[in-house]
Amino acid sequence: MSSLEQTLSIIKPDAVERNLESEIKEMFKNKGFKILKEKKIQIDKSEAEKFYKIHETKPFYNDLCTYLSSGPIVVMTLERENAVLGNRELMGATNPQDAIEGTIRKKYGISIDKNSVHGSDSIENAKIEIDFFFKD
Ligand code: UDP
Ligand code: MG
Repeated sequence: MSSLEQTLSIIKPDAVERNLESEIKEMFKNKGFKILKEKKIQIDKSEAEKFYKIHETKPFYNDLCTYLSSGPIVVMTLERENAVLGNRELMGATNPQDAIEGTIRKKYGISIDKNSVHGSDSIENAKIEIDFFFKD
């Protein structure tokens, strides 16, 4: 049974700022992900608020949106078998302190807010998030 999927990945400002873009892309490629689309952009706070709307009631929402809009990000569509779950595994836990060896957040994450990458958490949200950034 084949289940080729696409998911949305973002290299967040803390990682772009530290020039980790190629290292992180290498980690995706080593796990069999194909980068179908990518762009380096900076979004404004209102776009970040829209992107993270699911978190609007959380205490960290405002800081999160300020942070995501604070500098350049690299937005990518990744394709692979089971891409959504596979990317979540490769990213590691939200808090880098809890992330296991071999994950992006273990290797590069600084803190729970500066955790270097975003990844869609379901196939449904992956479609919504890919559309958000790449719908022409
Ligand atoms: N976040 C935070 N404080 C928290 C929980 C989350 O700053 O207590 C940030 C963190 O950068 C995280 C993002 O909010 O990546 C979205 O949270 P989510 O629970 O969706 O984590 P993720 O899916 O990114 O692992
Ligand atoms: Mg999430």
